[in-house]
Amino acid sequence: MQTPIIIVGAAGRMGSTVTRLARENAALLLVGRVEQTARMGDLAPVENCIDAENLESVLSACPQAGRKVIIDFTTPSYSLAVAQTAVKYGVAQVVGTTGLTEKEQSELKSCAAKTPIFRSPNMSVGVNVLLAILPELVRLLGDGYDMEMLEIHHNKKKDAPSGTAWRLVEAMADARGWASRDVSVCNREGLTGERPRKEIGVQSLRGGDVVGIHTAYFLGAGERIEITHQAHSRDNFAQGALRAAEWLVKQKPGKLYTMEDMLKHKGELQ
Ligand code: NAD
Repeated sequence: MQTPIIIVGAAGRMGSTVTRLARENAALLLVGRVEQTARMGDLAPVENCIDAENLESVLSACPQAGRKVIIDFTTPSYSLAVAQTAVKYGVAQVVGTTGLTEKEQSELKSCAAKTPIFRSPNMSVGVNVLLAILPELVRLLGDGYDMEMLEIHHNKKKDAPSGTAWRLVEAMADARGWASRDVSVCNREGLTGERPRKEIGVQSLRGGDVVGIHTAYFLGAGERIEITHQAHSRDNFAQGALRAAEWLVKQKPGKLYTMEDMLKHKGELQ
């Protein structure tokens, strides 16, 4: 049976990419799209797909049987509102939106106790494999290397540093036994003094149409290692979200699922 999906923020950069790829995927059926009134005109018509400004209107009008999955790349406050509606209607939600505060993340977690919710600040398989191998690299290198993070994104991105940069920094800090929020430094200006050992600098560049570049630096005496992930297009993130939707529809509520849960479950990560 095809998994019925509803795309919220359907006219956005990610929403429109997810829409295009979902329509090419025989395992999925696009049954609804949600967009703000001002952008409804940007949605090209899709046969048998219900379009509305309001998620409840789409959910109450959808005739398809089976658990529906919402794919959401919007804004933190709207993603939370979507999660509350998902709980009310017993539908699943894949959240790609980044920039959620700790309070918003904890509210999302409460919703995930009641309906299946999957969240990843980066849906790319490559980034998630990088997350899995970074701690091993940190352990092998030992304490003698300074760790830094650089991320570059397009000039329309609203949050900085990126959700992915935070996640990568967290993985690096955890491997040293540090709390990332205590050691990350996003601004250096003026007479900063010598760099403390227990610090991870996080720098954000914004410009042009860069989809997403993340580089982790390990700077030692006389050498350095740089590991870079470059996203060439948004298709990569959209395909990850569609895979997550197919996987999530078979999961039970109880935890806020991550890409790591999915890849481990599918045997792609140990
Ligand atoms: P965008 O601004 O192009 O698209 C967001 C869309 O959401 C817009 O069309 C907007 O009208 C719609 N929207 C916002 N509020 C709404 C509401 N109340 N009701 C209906 N529609 C609403 O942004 P984007 O570049 O597509 O990015 C969206 C989010 O996804 C950002 O947080 C971005 O950082 C994140 N992102 C995540 C990944 C990932 O892999 N997880 C990848 C790329 C982008």
